[in-house]
Amino acid sequence: MNFKGKVVLVTGSSRGIGRSIAVKFAKEGASVVINYRSNENEAKAITEIISSYSDCMCIQADVSKEKDVKRMIDTIIERYGHLDILVNNAGIAIDNDFKDRHVKDWQETLNTNLIGVFLTSKYAGKYMLQNQYGKIINISSTNGIDTIYPYSIDYDASKAGLINMTKNLAIEFAPVINVNAVAPGWVDTGMNDDLSKSYLKSEMERTLLKRFAEPEEIANVVLFLASDMARYIDGETIRVDGGLKVG
Ligand code: NAD
Repeated sequence: MNFKGKVVLVTGSSRGIGRSIAVKFAKEGASVVINYRSNENEAKAITEIISSYSDCMCIQADVSKEKDVKRMIDTIIERYGHLDILVNNAGIAIDNDFKDRHVKDWQETLNTNLIGVFLTSKYAGKYMLQNQYGKIINISSTNGIDTIYPYSIDYDASKAGLINMTKNLAIEFAPVINVNAVAPGWVDTGMNDDLSKSYLKSEMERTLLKRFAEPEEIANVVLFLASDMARYIDGETIRVDGGLKVG
């Protein structure tokens, strides 16, 4: 795959899946924009690594805040004149018992996982339409498809909402911008650090391949969706879950 000349924004890319997606795009020749909310050190470290072999810049922005998103997109357009690929990767999960779950948790989760995607897509989409080229890839989750996790009730609803939003954005931006989603199962990242070892082991057992995905295995599918090979795929969500079984 060759992304030379393309400008890619990956939200929440200082670590985890986002970082892996950013590295992979850079290795394929793209100019990559790293976005972070608060982890400046990690964001600068990965920006420096990527800059040693490809063009890369780093922008602080909380995707749930409209003025941050607008500033981020404007900065990208000022520097490059175009934005070709947007990967909506930033996401949060607050896991706790249903009885301890509050409206504040719901709001925080929906603000990042859903409203954040709406905002970045709205502001980036405008320039993609002007330029008559664009790809948007949303990182959903199998939790948004076959939910069995009441302790992440708001996260699961946000990821189901994101699959729905992927279809609406595809319609809104047709025929210029392809909008698709990837729904990973379990991925070996810091997002799952707070979960118990025994629980993670039981989840691995439910997975046919008997292991969690490496972030790069999610990045592979994101790059495919952003490539010309996937040009006839639109409004779709692709599971990448190693055969995760429900129940
Ligand atoms: P992670 O916690 O390592 O990375 C998420 C990144 O998003 C972090 O860098 C975080 O700072 C950033 N972020 C959070 N809120 C933000 C905001 N408001 N503005 C900007 N950045 C923000 O987790 P990850 O596993 O790499 O997750 C990446 C995506 O993949 C998420 O959308 C997550 O829901 C999804 N996902 C993860 C798994 C998994 O098992 N790890 C499974 C399915 C889906």
